[in-house]
Amino acid sequence: MTPFERALRDRISADGPITVEAYMEACNAHYYATRDPLGASGDFTTAPEISQMFGEMIGAALADCWTRAGAPADAVYVELGPGRGTLAADALRVMRQAGFAGEVHLVETSPVLREAQQRAVLGAHFHEFVGDLLAKPMLLVANEFLDALPIRQHVNGVERRVTIAAGGLAFDPDGEIVELSPARERAVHAVAERLVKNGGVALFIDYGHEGSGRGDTLQAVRDHRFAPVLADPGEQDLTSHVDFEAVVRSASATGAAVTPLISQREWLGRLGIEARAAALSRFNPEHANEIQAALHRLTTGDAMGELFKVIAIHSPEWPAPAGFE
Ligand code: SAH
Repeated sequence: MTPFERALRDRISADGPITVEAYMEACNAHYYATRDPLGASGDFTTAPEISQMFGEMIGAALADCWTRAGAPADAVYVELGPGRGTLAADALRVMRQAGFAGEVHLVETSPVLREAQQRAVLGAHFHEFVGDLLAKPMLLVANEFLDALPIRQHVNGVERRVTIAAGGLAFDPDGEIVELSPARERAVHAVAERLVKNGGVALFIDYGHEGSGRGDTLQAVRDHRFAPVLADPGEQDLTSHVDFEAVVRSASATGAAVTPLISQREWLGRLGIEARAAALSRFNPEHANEIQAALHRLTTGDAMGELFKVIAIHSPEWPAPAGFE
Protein backbone atom coordinates (compact mmCIF):
# COMPACT_ATOMS: atom_id res chain seq x y z
CA MET A 1 0.00 0.00 0.00
CA THR A 2 1.35 3.48 -0.87
CA PRO A 3 1.88 6.04 1.93
CA PHE A 4 -0.84 8.11 0.26
CA GLU A 5 -3.40 5.28 0.47
CA ARG A 6 -2.32 4.57 4.06
CA ALA A 7 -2.95 8.22 5.00
CA LEU A 8 -6.30 8.23 3.19
CA ARG A 9 -7.43 5.08 5.04
CA ASP A 10 -6.26 6.53 8.37
CA ARG A 11 -8.26 9.66 7.64
CA ILE A 12 -11.42 7.60 6.95
CA SER A 13 -10.86 5.47 10.06
CA ALA A 14 -10.41 8.56 12.23
CA ASP A 15 -13.01 10.94 10.77
CA GLY A 16 -15.49 8.63 9.04
CA PRO A 17 -16.36 8.15 5.35
CA ILE A 18 -15.30 10.96 2.99
CA THR A 19 -17.43 12.29 0.13
CA VAL A 20 -16.72 11.22 -3.47
CA GLU A 21 -15.80 14.88 -4.03
CA ALA A 22 -13.18 14.85 -1.25
CA TYR A 23 -11.87 11.48 -2.49
CA MET A 24 -11.51 12.68 -6.08
CA GLU A 25 -9.92 15.95 -5.01
CA ALA A 26 -7.35 14.27 -2.74
CA CYS A 27 -6.50 11.51 -5.24
CA ASN A 28 -6.10 13.80 -8.24
CA ALA A 29 -4.07 16.36 -6.30
CA HIS A 30 -1.63 13.58 -5.36
CA TYR A 31 -1.72 11.99 -8.81
CA TYR A 32 -0.94 15.18 -10.79
CA ALA A 33 1.54 16.52 -8.26
CA THR A 34 3.73 13.42 -8.46
CA ARG A 35 4.06 12.66 -12.20
CA ASP A 36 3.65 13.62 -15.84
CA PRO A 37 0.72 11.31 -16.73
CA LEU A 38 0.61 12.10 -20.45
CA GLY A 39 1.67 10.20 -23.55
CA ALA A 40 2.57 6.63 -24.50
CA SER A 41 4.75 6.07 -21.42
CA GLY A 42 2.12 7.60 -19.11
CA ASP A 43 -1.53 6.80 -18.42
CA PHE A 44 -3.45 8.64 -21.14
CA THR A 45 -2.95 10.56 -24.37
CA THR A 46 -4.72 13.85 -25.03
CA ALA A 47 -5.47 15.56 -28.36
CA PRO A 48 -2.50 18.01 -28.26
CA GLU A 49 -0.15 15.05 -27.71
CA ILE A 50 -1.59 13.28 -30.77
CA SER A 51 -0.79 16.04 -33.26
CA GLN A 52 0.37 19.65 -33.52
CA MET A 53 -2.70 20.22 -35.72
CA PHE A 54 -4.94 20.32 -32.65
CA GLY A 55 -3.16 23.25 -31.01
CA GLU A 56 -2.74 24.98 -34.36
CA MET A 57 -6.49 24.93 -35.01
CA ILE A 58 -7.11 26.39 -31.54
CA GLY A 59 -4.45 29.07 -32.08
CA ALA A 60 -6.00 29.99 -35.42
CA ALA A 61 -9.49 30.26 -33.89
CA LEU A 62 -8.27 32.42 -30.99
CA ALA A 63 -6.13 34.66 -33.23
CA ASP A 64 -9.00 35.17 -35.67
CA CYS A 65 -11.39 36.11 -32.85
CA TRP A 66 -8.80 38.50 -31.36
CA THR A 67 -8.22 40.14 -34.77
CA ARG A 68 -11.94 40.64 -35.34
CA ALA A 69 -12.24 42.14 -31.83
CA GLY A 70 -9.82 44.88 -32.95
CA ALA A 71 -6.58 43.17 -31.82
CA PRO A 72 -6.46 44.66 -28.28
CA ALA A 73 -2.77 44.88 -27.28
CA ASP A 74 -3.42 44.03 -23.61
CA ALA A 75 -5.05 40.66 -24.36
CA VAL A 76 -3.36 37.62 -22.79
CA TYR A 77 -3.25 33.92 -23.68
CA VAL A 78 -4.61 31.82 -20.80
CA GLU A 79 -4.71 28.06 -20.45
CA LEU A 80 -6.26 25.98 -17.67
CA GLY A 81 -4.50 22.67 -16.87
CA PRO A 82 -1.96 22.89 -19.73
CA GLY A 83 -0.42 19.41 -19.25
CA ARG A 84 3.00 19.40 -20.92
CA GLY A 85 2.40 22.81 -22.52
CA THR A 86 2.18 21.25 -25.98
CA LEU A 87 -1.15 22.85 -26.89
CA ALA A 88 0.09 26.25 -25.71
CA ALA A 89 3.29 26.01 -27.77
CA ASP A 90 1.41 24.95 -30.94
CA ALA A 91 -1.37 27.54 -30.50
CA LEU A 92 1.01 30.39 -29.68
CA ARG A 93 3.18 29.68 -32.75
CA VAL A 94 0.13 30.36 -34.93
CA MET A 95 -1.03 33.31 -32.81
CA ARG A 96 2.41 35.01 -32.89
CA GLN A 97 2.36 34.75 -36.70
CA ALA A 98 -1.00 36.52 -36.65
CA GLY A 99 0.53 39.39 -34.67
CA PHE A 100 -0.53 38.45 -31.15
CA ALA A 101 2.26 39.55 -28.77
CA GLY A 102 0.45 39.20 -25.42
CA GLU A 103 1.56 37.52 -22.20
CA VAL A 104 0.97 33.87 -21.38
CA HIS A 105 -0.84 32.92 -18.13
CA LEU A 106 -1.13 29.28 -17.13
CA VAL A 107 -3.40 27.95 -14.37
CA GLU A 108 -1.71 24.81 -13.05
CA THR A 109 -1.39 23.26 -9.59
CA SER A 110 1.09 20.44 -10.34
CA PRO A 111 4.76 21.38 -9.78
CA VAL A 112 5.90 18.58 -12.12
CA LEU A 113 3.72 19.81 -14.97
CA ARG A 114 4.57 23.47 -14.31
CA GLU A 115 8.18 22.55 -14.98
CA ALA A 116 7.27 20.93 -18.32
CA GLN A 117 5.13 23.96 -19.22
CA GLN A 118 7.97 26.34 -18.38
CA ARG A 119 10.18 24.50 -20.86
CA ALA A 120 7.49 24.49 -23.57
CA VAL A 121 6.45 28.15 -23.19
CA LEU A 122 9.21 30.54 -22.17
CA GLY A 123 8.20 33.39 -19.88
CA ALA A 124 4.83 31.97 -18.85
CA HIS A 125 3.19 33.29 -15.67
CA PHE A 126 1.63 30.74 -13.30
CA HIS A 127 -1.55 30.80 -11.24
CA GLU A 128 -3.21 28.40 -8.79
CA PHE A 129 -6.81 29.19 -9.63
CA VAL A 130 -8.79 30.98 -12.33
CA GLY A 131 -9.83 33.49 -9.67
CA ASP A 132 -6.21 34.71 -9.49
CA LEU A 133 -6.12 35.87 -13.12
CA LEU A 134 -5.55 39.51 -14.00
CA ALA A 135 -8.17 41.95 -15.20
CA LYS A 136 -7.24 41.74 -18.90
CA PRO A 137 -8.97 40.52 -22.06
CA MET A 138 -8.36 36.76 -22.28
CA LEU A 139 -7.88 34.28 -25.10
CA LEU A 140 -8.45 31.16 -23.03
CA VAL A 141 -8.40 27.45 -23.73
CA ALA A 142 -9.01 24.45 -21.48
CA ASN A 143 -8.65 20.96 -22.95
CA GLU A 144 -9.49 18.01 -20.68
CA PHE A 145 -9.39 20.31 -17.64
CA LEU A 146 -13.01 20.32 -16.44
CA ASP A 147 -13.19 16.50 -16.45
CA ALA A 148 -10.43 16.36 -13.81
CA LEU A 149 -12.21 18.64 -11.32
CA PRO A 150 -14.02 16.86 -8.46
CA ILE A 151 -17.68 15.88 -8.61
CA ARG A 152 -20.27 15.11 -5.98
CA GLN A 153 -22.49 12.06 -6.33
CA HIS A 154 -25.93 11.69 -4.75
CA VAL A 155 -28.06 8.57 -4.32
CA ASN A 156 -31.69 9.31 -3.43
CA GLY A 157 -30.66 12.70 -2.12
CA VAL A 158 -27.88 11.25 0.07
CA GLU A 159 -24.31 12.25 -0.72
CA ARG A 160 -22.26 9.22 -1.76
CA ARG A 161 -19.12 8.55 0.27
CA VAL A 162 -16.05 6.39 0.28
CA THR A 163 -15.75 4.17 3.31
CA ILE A 164 -13.77 1.14 4.44
CA ALA A 165 -15.56 -2.21 4.27
CA ALA A 166 -14.08 -5.71 4.50
CA GLY A 167 -10.60 -4.22 4.62
CA GLY A 168 -10.96 -2.30 1.34
CA LEU A 169 -12.32 1.02 0.08
CA ALA A 170 -16.02 0.91 -0.85
CA PHE A 171 -18.79 3.29 -1.94
CA ASP A 172 -21.77 3.98 0.27
CA PRO A 173 -24.58 3.99 -0.60
CA ASP A 174 -25.03 2.33 -4.01
CA GLY A 175 -27.99 3.08 -6.21
CA GLU A 176 -29.04 5.45 -8.97
CA ILE A 177 -26.55 8.29 -9.10
CA VAL A 178 -26.95 11.99 -9.75
CA GLU A 179 -23.72 13.97 -10.31
CA LEU A 180 -22.95 17.59 -9.56
CA SER A 181 -19.69 19.50 -9.83
CA PRO A 182 -19.57 22.73 -7.84
CA ALA A 183 -15.81 22.97 -8.54
CA ARG A 184 -16.43 22.90 -12.28
CA GLU A 185 -19.24 25.42 -12.00
CA ARG A 186 -17.03 27.75 -9.94
CA ALA A 187 -14.25 27.57 -12.56
CA VAL A 188 -16.60 28.25 -15.49
CA HIS A 189 -18.35 31.03 -13.59
CA ALA A 190 -15.03 32.71 -12.73
CA VAL A 191 -13.87 32.58 -16.36
CA ALA A 192 -17.19 33.88 -17.73
CA GLU A 193 -17.34 36.69 -15.18
CA ARG A 194 -13.90 37.90 -16.28
CA LEU A 195 -14.82 37.69 -19.97
CA VAL A 196 -17.87 39.89 -19.36
CA LYS A 197 -15.82 42.43 -17.39
CA ASN A 198 -12.63 42.57 -19.44
CA GLY A 199 -13.48 41.06 -22.83
CA GLY A 200 -12.25 37.92 -24.49
CA VAL A 201 -13.16 34.38 -25.41
CA ALA A 202 -12.78 30.94 -23.84
CA LEU A 203 -12.79 27.52 -25.52
CA PHE A 204 -13.64 24.46 -23.42
CA ILE A 205 -12.97 21.07 -24.97
CA ASP A 206 -13.84 17.89 -23.11
CA TYR A 207 -15.72 14.64 -23.21
CA GLY A 208 -19.18 14.83 -21.87
CA HIS A 209 -22.84 15.21 -22.66
CA GLU A 210 -25.26 17.92 -23.65
CA GLY A 211 -27.86 17.25 -20.95
CA SER A 212 -27.64 16.63 -17.20
CA GLY A 213 -28.68 13.35 -15.62
CA ARG A 214 -26.44 10.68 -17.07
CA GLY A 215 -25.90 8.66 -13.89
CA ASP A 216 -22.48 7.46 -12.76
CA THR A 217 -19.70 8.72 -15.07
CA LEU A 218 -16.78 8.64 -12.63
CA GLN A 219 -13.91 6.70 -14.18
CA ALA A 220 -10.30 5.80 -13.55
CA VAL A 221 -7.64 5.39 -16.22
CA ARG A 222 -4.21 3.91 -15.78
CA ASP A 223 -1.72 2.75 -18.37
CA HIS A 224 -4.23 3.60 -21.15
CA ARG A 225 -6.93 1.31 -19.71
CA PHE A 226 -10.01 1.80 -17.54
CA ALA A 227 -9.47 0.65 -13.95
CA PRO A 228 -11.71 0.29 -10.86
CA VAL A 229 -12.26 3.78 -9.39
CA LEU A 230 -11.27 2.78 -5.86
CA ALA A 231 -8.18 0.78 -6.81
CA ASP A 232 -4.76 2.32 -6.10
CA PRO A 233 -5.92 5.78 -4.98
CA GLY A 234 -3.66 8.59 -6.21
CA GLU A 235 -2.00 6.31 -8.78
CA GLN A 236 -4.58 6.65 -11.56
CA ASP A 237 -6.38 9.47 -13.34
CA LEU A 238 -9.89 10.09 -11.99
CA THR A 239 -12.26 11.97 -14.28
CA SER A 240 -15.95 12.25 -15.02
CA HIS A 241 -17.96 13.26 -18.04
CA VAL A 242 -18.62 16.97 -18.23
CA ASP A 243 -22.25 18.02 -17.91
CA PHE A 244 -22.28 20.80 -20.51
CA GLU A 245 -25.80 21.87 -19.53
CA ALA A 246 -24.32 22.89 -16.15
CA VAL A 247 -21.44 24.65 -17.96
CA VAL A 248 -23.91 26.67 -20.05
CA ARG A 249 -25.94 27.53 -16.95
CA SER A 250 -22.89 28.76 -14.99
CA ALA A 251 -21.59 30.82 -17.90
CA SER A 252 -24.96 32.33 -18.86
CA ALA A 253 -25.61 33.43 -15.28
CA THR A 254 -22.80 36.00 -15.66
CA GLY A 255 -24.24 37.59 -18.80
CA ALA A 256 -21.58 36.00 -21.03
CA ALA A 257 -22.47 34.81 -24.53
CA VAL A 258 -22.32 31.04 -25.09
CA THR A 259 -22.04 29.27 -28.45
CA PRO A 260 -23.81 26.03 -29.32
CA LEU A 261 -22.04 22.87 -28.12
CA ILE A 262 -20.60 20.93 -31.06
CA SER A 263 -18.52 17.82 -31.59
CA GLN A 264 -14.75 18.05 -31.90
CA ARG A 265 -15.09 16.40 -35.31
CA GLU A 266 -17.45 19.10 -36.55
CA TRP A 267 -15.46 21.99 -35.08
CA LEU A 268 -12.04 20.91 -36.33
CA GLY A 269 -13.59 20.13 -39.72
CA ARG A 270 -15.09 23.61 -40.05
CA LEU A 271 -11.77 25.19 -39.06
CA GLY A 272 -10.07 23.35 -41.93
CA ILE A 273 -8.05 20.61 -40.24
CA GLU A 274 -8.15 18.50 -43.42
CA ALA A 275 -6.43 21.23 -45.42
CA ARG A 276 -3.85 21.58 -42.63
CA ALA A 277 -3.24 17.81 -42.68
CA ALA A 278 -2.80 17.90 -46.45
CA ALA A 279 -0.32 20.80 -46.23
CA LEU A 280 1.68 19.09 -43.46
CA SER A 281 1.77 15.89 -45.53
CA ARG A 282 3.08 17.79 -48.56
CA PHE A 283 5.91 19.30 -46.47
CA ASN A 284 6.65 15.99 -44.73
CA PRO A 285 5.79 13.22 -47.20
CA GLU A 286 7.71 10.70 -45.08
CA HIS A 287 5.20 11.36 -42.24
CA ALA A 288 2.05 11.38 -44.38
CA ASN A 289 0.72 8.14 -42.87
CA GLU A 290 1.20 9.37 -39.29
CA ILE A 291 -0.49 12.68 -40.09
CA GLN A 292 -3.44 10.83 -41.62
CA ALA A 293 -3.67 8.54 -38.57
CA ALA A 294 -3.63 11.55 -36.22
CA LEU A 295 -6.35 13.29 -38.24
CA HIS A 296 -8.42 10.12 -38.00
CA ARG A 297 -7.93 9.86 -34.23
CA LEU A 298 -8.90 13.49 -33.64
CA THR A 299 -11.96 13.59 -35.87
CA THR A 300 -13.69 10.24 -36.35
CA GLY A 301 -16.65 9.02 -34.34
CA ASP A 302 -14.95 5.75 -33.36
CA ALA A 303 -12.02 7.71 -31.88
CA MET A 304 -12.29 11.17 -30.25
CA GLY A 305 -14.42 13.02 -32.80
CA GLU A 306 -17.89 12.57 -31.30
CA LEU A 307 -17.26 11.92 -27.60
CA PHE A 308 -15.30 15.17 -27.31
CA LYS A 309 -17.28 18.39 -27.51
CA VAL A 310 -16.33 22.04 -27.90
CA ILE A 311 -18.10 25.10 -26.52
CA ALA A 312 -17.06 28.75 -26.45
CA ILE A 313 -17.94 31.42 -23.92
CA HIS A 314 -17.29 35.02 -24.90
CA SER A 315 -17.81 38.59 -23.92
CA PRO A 316 -21.03 39.95 -25.48
CA GLU A 317 -18.81 42.70 -26.88
CA TRP A 318 -16.56 40.25 -28.68
CA PRO A 319 -17.45 38.30 -31.83
CA ALA A 320 -18.16 34.57 -31.48
CA PRO A 321 -15.16 32.45 -32.48
CA ALA A 322 -15.28 30.68 -35.85
CA GLY A 323 -16.61 27.18 -36.36
CA PHE A 324 -19.70 27.15 -34.15
CA GLU A 325 -22.48 28.22 -36.55
N1 SAH B 1 -4.73 20.12 -21.18
C1 SAH B 1 -3.68 19.12 -21.18
C2 SAH B 1 -3.65 18.26 -19.90
C3 SAH B 1 -4.94 17.60 -19.47
S1 SAH B 1 -4.73 16.69 -17.95
C4 SAH B 1 -3.77 18.27 -22.42
O1 SAH B 1 -4.77 18.36 -23.11
O2 SAH B 1 -2.83 17.53 -22.69
C5 SAH B 1 -5.40 17.80 -16.72
C6 SAH B 1 -4.57 19.00 -16.42
O3 SAH B 1 -5.23 19.79 -15.45
C7 SAH B 1 -3.18 18.74 -15.85
O4 SAH B 1 -2.30 19.72 -16.32
C8 SAH B 1 -3.44 18.88 -14.35
O5 SAH B 1 -2.29 19.09 -13.59
C9 SAH B 1 -4.38 20.05 -14.34
N2 SAH B 1 -5.24 20.16 -13.16
C10 SAH B 1 -5.99 19.19 -12.58
N3 SAH B 1 -6.69 19.69 -11.53
C11 SAH B 1 -6.38 21.00 -11.46
C12 SAH B 1 -6.79 22.07 -10.60
N4 SAH B 1 -7.67 21.87 -9.62
N5 SAH B 1 -6.28 23.30 -10.82
C13 SAH B 1 -5.41 23.52 -11.83
N6 SAH B 1 -4.99 22.56 -12.67
C14 SAH B 1 -5.46 21.31 -12.49
